[in-house]
Amino acid sequence: MLLREIKNIFHRELNTIYPQGEVDSFFYLLIEHYLKLERFVLALRPDLIVSKEQEQPLFEALAQLKLHRPVQYIIGKTVFMDLELRVNENVLIPRPETEDLVRWIIEDCRIDRGRDLRILDIGTGSGCIAIALAKNLPGAKVVALDVSQKALELAKKNAEKNGIEIEFIKADILNFNVEFEIELDVVVSNPPYVRELDKKEMSENVLCHEPELALFVPDEDPLRFYTKIADFAKANLKGNGKLYLEINQYLAEDSQALLEAKNFQDIELRKDLFGNNRMLKASTSF
Ligand code: GLN
Repeated sequence: MLLREIKNIFHRELNTIYPQGEVDSFFYLLIEHYLKLERFVLALRPDLIVSKEQEQPLFEALAQLKLHRPVQYIIGKTVFMDLELRVNENVLIPRPETEDLVRWIIEDCRIDRGRDLRILDIGTGSGCIAIALAKNLPGAKVVALDVSQKALELAKKNAEKNGIEIEFIKADILNFNVEFEIELDVVVSNPPYVRELDKKEMSENVLCHEPELALFVPDEDPLRFYTKIADFAKANLKGNGKLYLEINQYLAEDSQALLEAKNFQDIELRKDLFGNNRMLKASTSF
């Protein structure tokens, strides 16, 4: 079949589910991944023929896209701040909002390329935050925790594949009291923060395919992770250490109040690229 005919089939089958631009980007990602073809091939070679064998993974992917499976899980990878990372259903697909959080930390810590800093990422998932920080702050020592063994396995592979050294620890922040022997300079986390009432705004892709463990919190205690992380940060950060959090945009005030109640200083809120209140930074000072 001609490659452009396959593209037309993608549009016909998916245009009622996804915006047209998104269908185009799925198609280009798929031909790049399975056929090693660049996106401009269609313009250069409009009559390119694809063999039966080559078209098979494309049509398999099409069937999965119709079931709202995220394209990143289908091809098993994504890009986060110039890093290629593997992803699967055991980890959240890294979001551009989280890139903003990482950029904030890099901006603040770039003096001496992060020399001698000790950074801890709580709930690392694919490892995206920890790996991006270690890459951009090569002087820093980065440690990452997750409760999921499967997430940690993937995060380790991602670190190795990108030539980055990180210490990974399996631990549940909700039941974790161990103190680090060396005090930390930075604690960062993007913990679960989606409540039942937030689900109506979320796409089926996320709700049906991404890991519940990484996303959801009970409506009656939506800041449960933030409470634990704040206590942990107070116990393990240096004086003048920094805590960075990705937050639920609808809980920005509550999240801020929680840090104030725990005596964090210089609390700063930032919006993400979509204009939503998405990140908090706070300092310890004692
Ligand atoms: N930002 C994610 C979403 O909207 C949620 C991430 C999280 O719960 N930490 O799907």
